[in-house]
Amino acid sequence: MGSVAFVRLNCDAYLTCLMHALSNETEEVMGLCIGEMIEKISGCEINISAVLLLRRMDKRKDRVEISVEQLSNASSYAEELAIKSGKNLRIVGWYHSHPHITVWPSHVDVQTQAMYQMMDETFVGLIFSCFNENKANLHQTVEMICFQSLTSMDDSSQYQRLEVPMYLERTQCLSEANLQTLTSLPKTLMHEECEAYDAVIKSCGNCILTKLHNASVHTQSVCNITETVISPLLQILEQTHTNHKLKIKEVEAENEELRKMLAELEASSITENKAS
Ligand SMILES: [Zn+2]
Repeated sequence: MGSVAFVRLNCDAYLTCLMHALSNETEEVMGLCIGEMIEKISGCEINISAVLLLRRMDKRKDRVEISVEQLSNASSYAEELAIKSGKNLRIVGWYHSHPHITVWPSHVDVQTQAMYQMMDETFVGLIFSCFNENKANLHQTVEMICFQSLTSMDDSSQYQRLEVPMYLERTQCLSEANLQTLTSLPKTLMHEECEAYDAVIKSCGNCILTKLHNASVHTQSVCNITETVISPLLQILEQTHTNHKLKIKEVEAENEELRKMLAELEASSITENKAS
C-alpha cells in the first residue's frame, strides 16, 4: 500500500501538461505539479491545481532529473501561488512525457521517483504517453498514469512501480497560474531553439552551405513550433475568450433580472406599508 490514496488533477492543469507533452515528438519534456495534500481517514489525497514547465538539463533518453536550482525556484513559485490562493499549495509531484513509447515508467523513472519520495513520501509522478498511432485507423492516442515507487518484495535494494488512481477534476475556466504557464510554453520552446541554433552557428565555421543548411533547419523548427504549439494555443485562448464573453452576458442578464425582482418587491412592500 502506498502513501497516497488517490490524485485529483484539475482539467486546466491537465490541458497544460498535455500541450507541453505534445510540443515535442522526439524528446521527453518534464515539469512539476503544484497542489495540496489533504489527509483523510481513507488515506492521503493529492489535489493538483497548477503545473510548472521545466527545461531538461540532461537531454539523454530517460534522463529526467530536476536540478536543485529548479526545485528551489519552483518552491518559491508554489509559495507565491499559496499566498495568492490562500491554500496550502506546494510542489506535490512531477510529470514527464513518453513520446512514441509506452506509458509505463522505466526502471530509471522508478528509481528517480523513489529518490523524490525519500524527501516527501507523498510525492507522485505523472507520465503522459503520446504520439502513439493506431496502425489500423491512424488515430493517435494519449495515455496517462500516476505512480509511486515501492521497495521491491523480492529485493529490498530495488524498487517497483505502484499505480496511483487519478481523476480529472472539472474546472470552470483556465486559472491564472495555468494560463501563465501555457503562454510561457512557446517562449520557452523558442528560447531553447534559438539557443541551440546560436551554439551551432558558433561551431560550424565559415562554410556557406553549412550555414544555409543550419538556417533552414532553424526556420523549419520555428515554423513547427508555430504550427504545433502557437496555433492550437491561440485557438484554445480564443475559444476561452468567447466562452467568457458569453458567461459575462449570462451573468449580466441574471443580474438585471434580479434587480427587477428586487425593485418589484420593494415597490410592493411600500404599497403594503401605505395600505396598513
Ligand atoms: Zn520516463
